[in-house]
Amino acid sequence: MNKKTVRDIDVTGKRVLVRVDFNVPIKDGKVADDTRVVAALPTIEYLVEHGAKAILMSHLGRPKGKVIPEMSLRPAADRLSGLLGREVKFLPDCIGPEVEAAVAGMKPGDVVLLENTRFHPGEEKNDPEFARKLASLGEIFVDDAFGSAHRAHASTEGVAHYLPAVAGFLMEKELDILGRLLEAPNHPFVSILGGAKISDKIGVIRNLLTRVDALLIGGGMANTFLRAEGYEVGESLVEEDSVPLAKELLEEATEVIRLPVDVVVADGFAPDAKSKVVGVDKVPQGWRILDIGPETVAHFADRLSGAKMVFWNGPMGVFEFPRFAEGTFAIARVLADLKNAVTIIGGGDSVAAVKESGLADRMTHISTGGGASLELLEGKTLPGVAALEDK
Ligand code: ADP
Ligand code: MG
Repeated sequence: MNKKTVRDIDVTGKRVLVRVDFNVPIKDGKVADDTRVVAALPTIEYLVEHGAKAILMSHLGRPKGKVIPEMSLRPAADRLSGLLGREVKFLPDCIGPEVEAAVAGMKPGDVVLLENTRFHPGEEKNDPEFARKLASLGEIFVDDAFGSAHRAHASTEGVAHYLPAVAGFLMEKELDILGRLLEAPNHPFVSILGGAKISDKIGVIRNLLTRVDALLIGGGMANTFLRAEGYEVGESLVEEDSVPLAKELLEEATEVIRLPVDVVVADGFAPDAKSKVVGVDKVPQGWRILDIGPETVAHFADRLSGAKMVFWNGPMGVFEFPRFAEGTFAIARVLADLKNAVTIIGGGDSVAAVKESGLADRMTHISTGGGASLELLEGKTLPGVAALEDK
């Protein structure tokens, strides 16, 4: 990675403003899933150990510039405090005299968490005045919020105009591993793409196609490709507008793209719909494809065996319905059992599916950035990354 990190600057005794991604699910006033808090620990612990004063900020949810008490970050402060084993003082706002006074009273090694930056309209507008106020709290800016780096907001991009800006360890790890996928993948490099729509992922498909040895397509996205091959897919989710594009991709990359050979069809879009496994040429009229079939899993597993690098985005079926989750979970098991492969999972629903499979800890890397990881893989420059200082 060509960006400076927190290791490249002297943080001792300094007020370090850290953008973390604590956009966590809250249930009954508690953090329901602390993955993102845990992911931020290496940077926070480093700052504490090096005698910095860590001032953490994040957004949570979509309060749209208003104070919404249910979207307070206070529960995240409690959880972080438990994980760090030290007090994390929670401040009731992210700017203003009360916050300034609390920050002025910090000692080296102290950690505070500011209230939700999106309680102020200036956050999402990237208002320079709001960014300047946030920035005035620190002497250095550390961005560790990879999951928010695709957004040019005041706390992810704006503040970098006022302070020396460097990457935290999570940001560094994400950029390193996803950057490697694009710049120097290990071969054979196999990518599995699925999820709802081809139109959401076209940039990613194009960018990966030139790099992979095989591209395995499942999920709703596969339906459009199956249509392009001339199959009837009944009531399946299909993007008719994208059929010509799918045809084009299939022509360009016949050797690389692999589609399902069998599918699980259902007589309705419901968890208890009647279902059966059929060949892709036998989808009955009025039925819809909700998962890949067992032959497809075997075929994909064959393609994956011996892979040295795997990137997976997009569930293979409607995994939210247990009956149609088997294809997705089976692929997770295949990845978990690969030997000597770097396995990388990106995308909000894909990560949720892999966690649900219980195999998350057997993957090399689970990206904490849904939208950010996809935009990076499309080849886009993320504003939150561009704002950091080059090495
Ligand atoms: P990610 O968030 O990992 O990038 P997407 O948002 O693109 O993934 O896609 C996830 C959604 O795709 C899930 O809600 C899942 O139900 C849906 N999906 C997968 N397969 C199908 C299918 N065959 N028909 C309809 N929806 C599907
Ligand atoms: Mg999604």
